[in-house]
Amino acid sequence: MPPKIVEVIENGVCAACGACEATCPLNAVYIESEADVPEDETRPPSASRRDPNNLTYYVHGAACEVCEDCLTCSRVCPVVDGFPEDEFDNVRSFRGGKSELEGQDGAVVSAILKSLFEQGEIDCAVGIKRDENWGIEPFILTKASDVDLSKGTKYSSAPVLAQLKDAMKKYEKIAVVGVPCQAHGAALMRENMTDRIVLVIGILCMESFTSEALCDNIIPNIMGLDIKQVVKMDFGGGKFWAYTKNGDNGEEPVGNSIAIKEIAALARNPCHHCLDYTAYYADISVGSVGAPDGWNSVIVRNDTGEKYLNKVKGIEYMDDPKPGMFLIKKLADQKHKNNAPKEGGAH
Ligand SMILES: Cc1cc2nc3c(=O)[nH]c(=O)nc-3n(C[C@H](O)[C@H](O)[C@H](O)COP(=O)(O)OP(=O)(O)OC[C@H]3O[C@@H](n4cnc5c(N)ncnc54)[C@H](O)[C@@H]3O)c2cc1C
Ligand code: SF4
Ligand code: SF4
Ligand code: SF4
Repeated sequence: MPPKIVEVIENGVCAACGACEATCPLNAVYIESEADVPEDETRPPSASRRDPNNLTYYVHGAACEVCEDCLTCSRVCPVVDGFPEDEFDNVRSFRGGKSELEGQDGAVVSAILKSLFEQGEIDCAVGIKRDENWGIEPFILTKASDVDLSKGTKYSSAPVLAQLKDAMKKYEKIAVVGVPCQAHGAALMRENMTDRIVLVIGILCMESFTSEALCDNIIPNIMGLDIKQVVKMDFGGGKFWAYTKNGDNGEEPVGNSIAIKEIAALARNPCHHCLDYTAYYADISVGSVGAPDGWNSVIVRNDTGEKYLNKVKGIEYMDDPKPGMFLIKKLADQKHKNNAPKEGGAH
């Protein structure tokens, strides 16, 4: 029986989380970023390359030459596993949080990682860094000072879980940070094949883009901005924001915005089918919606999340933050409605 991930790919809903690449014992699968795959490349027989936004790059059956049908990849694939029925039924606590660190919102994610590194509670974490052109690269953080390299949201997607292939050989206490599909893949890996992932931090996510769509189209063509001048991107108030440098003397960056509806259709294909907004399978979920500006919304979902968050130092909390959980639920509903399977459509 071929692995079920083949169907996921053929239906165009592979989230490119990287879990299959991390776990396949034969290296039969790996994720290639769309920009790196030359159109006429002769593919090595040992690899089935996938770009979820361009299925012409996927050579159907290429993996079969080496795949031994162990089905490990199918057990860790978040899309094969499916979406939660009620993504709020495991919310154990909900608070606002912020730290003194610099980050996307309240830098709660950075504070958790930093504090756990300092206490020796984790020896590695998976994150994403960027260059001045907003090119992104997943990497392994191994010490508290690495956390600064991963701060800030990148709205393009990379297969962060693929980093776990090496990390699982070297490290014993691994933290994973990822959007809901990645948090789900990490949770399945922990459930099915490793006890080395000690903490899964999920970040709320409505959608993500390919680097090509974001950096080569939305920013320069649709918003008319120079990507090198962009210091921060964000969603808020129904708009997508790109903040640009404003002089060399520490002036506040300039906010440039566009209505989300102008760019939503450009999100990656799997994001149009995704029904998890709040990272249901994470131990702790962190977002910006639901909390005041400069704060994070922090959801603890299980014992593991509670245990690790209790150890973290340097986070200030706010009970009952405004606008609150109602807004998170409203946006989750919106995502579910937009992405629910259409009659006769694949999901
Ligand atoms: C694609 C995307 C869409 C999002 N959409 C929403 C939303 O609709 N509503 C909402 O409330 N919040 C959303 N967020 C979450 C929000 O932008 C912040 O990431 C979150 O509030 C944590 O903020 P922080 O200040 O604690 O982050 P920081 O302390 O700055 O830490 C950021 C962490 O995020 C990781 N990271 C950054 N970009 C990515 C990426 N592309 N993939 C995986 N990991 C990444 C970094 O490695 C780092 O660990 C989204 C995030 C992403 C990546
Ligand atoms: S079934 Fe096993 S060997 Fe085949 S691609 Fe999946 S993990 Fe690799
Ligand atoms: S495990 Fe992740 S990368 Fe692999 S097929 Fe499933 S969604 Fe795609
Ligand atoms: S919407 Fe977010 S969580 Fe869902 S597939 Fe896209 S990147 Fe992953």
